[in-house]
Amino acid sequence: SVRVRIAPSPTGNLHIGTARTAVFNWLYARGNEGTFVLRIEDTDEARSRPEYTDNIKSGLEWLGLTWDEGPFFQTQRLDKYQAAVQTLIDKGLAYPCYCTPEELDELRETQKAQGKAPGYDNRHRNLSDQARQAFEAEGRKPVIRFKIDRDRTISWQDSIRDTVSWQGEDLGGDMVIARAAEGDEPYGQALYNLAVVVDDIDMNISHVIRGEDHIANTAKQILLYEALDAKIPTFAHSPLILNTDGKKLSKRDGVTSIDDFRKMGFLPEALVNYMTLLGWTFPDSTKEIFTLDEAAKEFDLERVNKAGAKFDWDKLDWINSQYLHQMPADKLTDLLIPYWQEAGYEVDKMDRSWLEQLTALTAPTLNRLTDVIQETSIFFDDSFDYKEEAMDLLKQEGVTAVIAEIIEGVNNAASMTEEDAKALIKQVTKSQKVKKGLVMRSLRASLTGELHGPDLIQTWLLLNKLGSDTTRLQQTL
Ligand code: GLU
Repeated sequence: SVRVRIAPSPTGNLHIGTARTAVFNWLYARGNEGTFVLRIEDTDEARSRPEYTDNIKSGLEWLGLTWDEGPFFQTQRLDKYQAAVQTLIDKGLAYPCYCTPEELDELRETQKAQGKAPGYDNRHRNLSDQARQAFEAEGRKPVIRFKIDRDRTISWQDSIRDTVSWQGEDLGGDMVIARAAEGDEPYGQALYNLAVVVDDIDMNISHVIRGEDHIANTAKQILLYEALDAKIPTFAHSPLILNTDGKKLSKRDGVTSIDDFRKMGFLPEALVNYMTLLGWTFPDSTKEIFTLDEAAKEFDLERVNKAGAKFDWDKLDWINSQYLHQMPADKLTDLLIPYWQEAGYEVDKMDRSWLEQLTALTAPTLNRLTDVIQETSIFFDDSFDYKEEAMDLLKQEGVTAVIAEIIEGVNNAASMTEEDAKALIKQVTKSQKVKKGLVMRSLRASLTGELHGPDLIQTWLLLNKLGSDTTRLQQTL
């Protein structure tokens, strides 16, 4: 059965790259009646923080990427890793290395001078017992290294990249699998590659789907699976997310965490939809708007791209706008309220149905939830700047007369419905002998300071409920 996992390190908030990897794992699990496991790789105790774990969990939940098992924590499983280190030592596949940091630095310098790739030269692989005892007597604490055969070619069938091969000699020499002891133990804490393999074996992971930056780790990990006599899972290395310059998307590109995207006004369903498209397309590639469940039915690793996926803000905005435009006004209003409140508009004291009408009016103009402030501020705040083109129009000959007659019409009416408003515009057009477009533009310029915007009659009615307040119109006379 299919068992996949996401294994973030809690050294920062949930990152877009991790979230996208989570999307692919989630889709693969759901599409194959599989299990999605969450594992927190918190062995770097200096950099790991509980609040990052909370952020990762709440971010995955917000995106709808629910997990079936876990979270498991590596810090609660340390004894399993130590046992595996011991197994490898007992089998003669791992050994203590007593090199000091200075010796390793020197080795690196020599390699550099000779134009060779840096790496450990396996110098303590075959130490005599005597040499070992001498180092111990000096008080040196060894790390544990796992033997890597330089002549070995490591190959696997990657579900995304077909056959991938690595040469043993390109893995930097025998690899450290456990740190030096701090106290009297023979060796210290096990390291990343070993811990991952022990966990993936214990958790019965069938498919390891992760970013292509882990390809070299995969080569090392395959050797560890073999050494531990375990079944090697299927590997799939997804393409990196790139910025517009074709470089790996990073903090310098403005955002990297899912929290940032939330704060920027993206909807979770739009963001996961977009993340799915970072490296994958629906079989019918014209279908770009889909739910996670729809994608899960069609998702396959073979159709994930090998090439890096460029992050496209316009596309994300477009997808977000599609979700915003189709959302019912009451639901969207709920989502917009916090943004209005943050801008200082006391919407909790306002009429709910008026707010929902305002939402419906402006929804088609929104790409992000945050756009609502710019798009609706004129409904909350009388002090706005008139655009130059609006000012120019208001100075045109005949426009003052148009506005004056509208004010008069409003003042004479007992109430003003949509029909009344339309009739008034018609009447002014006729009596001022101007085009209807000019009346409409003048009214819009006067009320909103702009020449363009959503439906004018609705805007007018919502601005002062029933069009009875002429303060703004008078201001522009
Ligand atoms: N902790 C690793 C990371 O965050 C996990 C890599 C893996 O999926 O094995 O990159």
